[in-house]
Parts: sequence; structure tokens; C-alpha cells
Amino acid sequence: MRGMNRPGKIVCVGRNYAAHARELGNAVPEQPLLFLKPPSAVIGHGEAIVLPAASARVEHEAEIGVVIGRTLRRASEAEARAAVAGITCANDVTARDLQKTDGQWTRAKGFDTFCPIGPGVLAIDPDTFDVAALDVTCRVNGVVRQHGRAADMVFGVPTLLAYIAGIMTLEPGDLVLTGTPEGVGPLVAGDVVEVEVSGVGTLRNPVVGG
Ligand code: ZN
Repeated sequence: MRGMNRPGKIVCVGRNYAAHARELGNAVPEQPLLFLKPPSAVIGHGEAIVLPAASARVEHEAEIGVVIGRTLRRASEAEARAAVAGITCANDVTARDLQKTDGQWTRAKGFDTFCPIGPGVLAIDPDTFDVAALDVTCRVNGVVRQHGRAADMVFGVPTLLAYIAGIMTLEPGDLVLTGTPEGVGPLVAGDVVEVEVSGVGTLRNPVVGG
């Protein structure tokens, strides 16, 4: 386990678990649905998620974070798989009300502190490590809110990375958030939210008012 540097870019995948797509009334996409979070949103383990005054509904999204280890451009799925350097826990914090009213997601996903990652990066050997065997759990104040298995992703990690690399070059240190399972829900000031990825660690962040 090593520390996490601020990624060059954070590429995220929406609606990548069928049950989560349904819980928000959305269809499962036929191709990966991509968006970006700004690197300025990143905070580490133990740092506070700050609720912005502009939103009345901020929600957690527990996700498996994939750290890129080598440059990927127009890559095959085998090349994409081989480019994974590590795994981390991530929380794609989202202002759900603004996501709906804005029509696109830059503001809803981009506030400062809206991308907790950590507590570190588990370095992996992509030849032997099975990302699809991971699972992810979210707890708020110790109560389980979300639990999902990477095996249930609509698009698995090699497919996602190859798709992204056909659009934009992925560079070492870039971070890909692979989508959230069902059970997203609100965060309020005073909460403590945890994202645990099996065998990787537990990311814990308090929530404070803005
Ligand atoms: Zn997400």
C-alpha cells in the first residue's frame, strides 16, 4: 500500500451496475457513460467532505478506483488490463439535486472535497490480480448503505479502460472510477462515511457543513 498522489485526470463511469441505474430511474447504457471529476476535488483518508450551500441533497457513491500505470491509447482489452497499476477506494460524492437540474454533471460532481480517495493504493500485478473478484461496501455511521461486486458491473474494467483509451489517452497516475452499486443515499453534517474495497482498505471521511 502506498500513498495516493493527485491524479492527472479522473474519468468516471455512470450507471455501471444495473440495479443502481434502475434505482435512479435510468436505463442501463449500451455503451459506457463517461464523465470527469476535477483533480481539485480530491481529498484523502480522514479529510472532511464539505457540503456546499448550493445543494440540498448530497449523496455518497462508493466505487472501486483503478489507478493507471502506463500510457494507454487506442488499446485492446488485453493491453488495458495490463495497464492497471493499483486499486483504491473512492467516493464519487454527488449533489443529486444539481445533477438533475443542471442536465450535465460538472457542478454536481465537481465541488471541492467531492472525490475522497484512499487510504492508499494497493499495487497489483495485472497478470495475476482479478479485479472482477473485488467487492465494494459503503457504510454511513457504521450502517451498510451499499454493497456491490465488480463481477456485477455492466462493463468490466478492461472493457472500460479500452473504451476510454479510444477517446482520450490514459496516462500513468490517472484514476478511473468504475461506477457505484445500488443504495446511494444522502449525507448530512456529522455523518462519517466509509468506502471499503475488499482486500484494499477502508476510506473514512467525516461530513461537515459548508
Ligand atoms: Zn459514480
